Amino acid sequence: MPDDARTPLKAFPQAARPLPPEASLNAEERARILAKAAIFSPPDATLPDGRRDLVGMTHAQLVEEMRGMGEKPFRAKQLWHWIYHQGARDFGVMNSIAKPMQAKLAERFVVGRPEVATEQTSADGTRKWLFRFRDQQQVETVYIPEDDRGALCISTQVGCTLSCSFCHTGTQKLVRNLGVAEIVGQFMAARDSYGEWPTPKGEEGRRLSNIVVMGMGEPLYNYENIRDALVIIMDHEGIGLSRRRITLSTSGVVPVMDLCGQELGVNLAVSLHAVRDDLRDELVPLNRKYPIAELLAACRRYPGASNARRITFEYVMLKGINDSVAEAQELTRLLQGIPAKVNLIPFNPWPGSQYETSTHASIQAFADVLSRAGYSSPVRRPRGRDILAACGQLKTETERARRG
Ligand code: SAH
Ligand code: SF4
Repeated sequence: MPDDARTPLKAFPQAARPLPPEASLNAEERARILAKAAIFSPPDATLPDGRRDLVGMTHAQLVEEMRGMGEKPFRAKQLWHWIYHQGARDFGVMNSIAKPMQAKLAERFVVGRPEVATEQTSADGTRKWLFRFRDQQQVETVYIPEDDRGALCISTQVGCTLSCSFCHTGTQKLVRNLGVAEIVGQFMAARDSYGEWPTPKGEEGRRLSNIVVMGMGEPLYNYENIRDALVIIMDHEGIGLSRRRITLSTSGVVPVMDLCGQELGVNLAVSLHAVRDDLRDELVPLNRKYPIAELLAACRRYPGASNARRITFEYVMLKGINDSVAEAQELTRLLQGIPAKVNLIPFNPWPGSQYETSTHASIQAFADVLSRAGYSSPVRRPRGRDILAACGQLKTETERARRG
């Protein structure tokens, strides 16, 4: 078991460290991004009948909530155990809590889950859910099984503001950010689907052993919600997944990358996809704001990056666009000094997409250049293509309601 799975996770253990000077320069920009996230905030956590969802409250918020009812903090600890360790959804099964108290809790609260609109399992075992939330908005979540473990790919937004030209989600406007309960809820509902409750002891032998924040949306444009959700998921008295088993992928929101490293310290994946700014401007339009040099500087200062914990650079292989040997060589030059590995993702087509997947031979040639330079460069095997569950294929039909 990794060390940090045993130590209780204090919220933001590293936050006391000052940001490096380059990162502090970004402070204003970061404040602007965090404020903007609020415009796309999720609906209130209170149901129409006035009850509140306990899922999505941090431990401190739960303690506060109990205090409001005149209860001691140990009540929050009990509830936490039932919700996140046992997976209980009904106060009636919480047998360490006396019946009258159970009834009182049920009057005020619920233990929520997103509704499963559809669940599909691919021929290769990949499972995809379409989850529906209270306001009828929907996201997709994908479970990718390996032999004795598996990763859950979770979404952070309905749609995405960034329109990367090769990404299906990018064709859908941003509808809204997901709330903490909706992010944690994807993991809990997937656990329900596999019956993986109570939380297995230690981290071995879990079906849902890893999380990749690589579904719909840009997580660093919904940072505070994803942060609280991951803090809940990492709490060792509940789900207890360590930060080493969580990887967050960003298209390169530089000012928030620093904060993510400081407060969460999860593994970082960066969607690079091109080695020149002119091409990256086209593929990942956010590059016009935070060009490659700035992005790589943020990677160099990402806390905790080391040879044991490399930053993953994702590189989608687009035939004739970004897949030449010369580009592979340039990539090795760019990555110098960064503890890095490169994940080569064969482009996954979607209805109406304008690109083709690179040939097997060119992917191999590209990977060879990287591995000769000492970079591990696994080619990501497409999973669940038959159910449109592979990278960049996720999209829902829900739209932003007209405002005003
Ligand atoms: N918004 C974040 C995380 C979600 S996308 C980000 O962009 O990093 C997860 C990964 O899938 C990214 O690396 C993205 O570039 C990649 N991707 C998107 N569309 C793809 C496609 N059609 N084929 C292969 N990979 C794709
Ligand atoms: Fe958004 Fe990531 Fe898709 Fe780009 S690749 S449009 S950032 S989800």
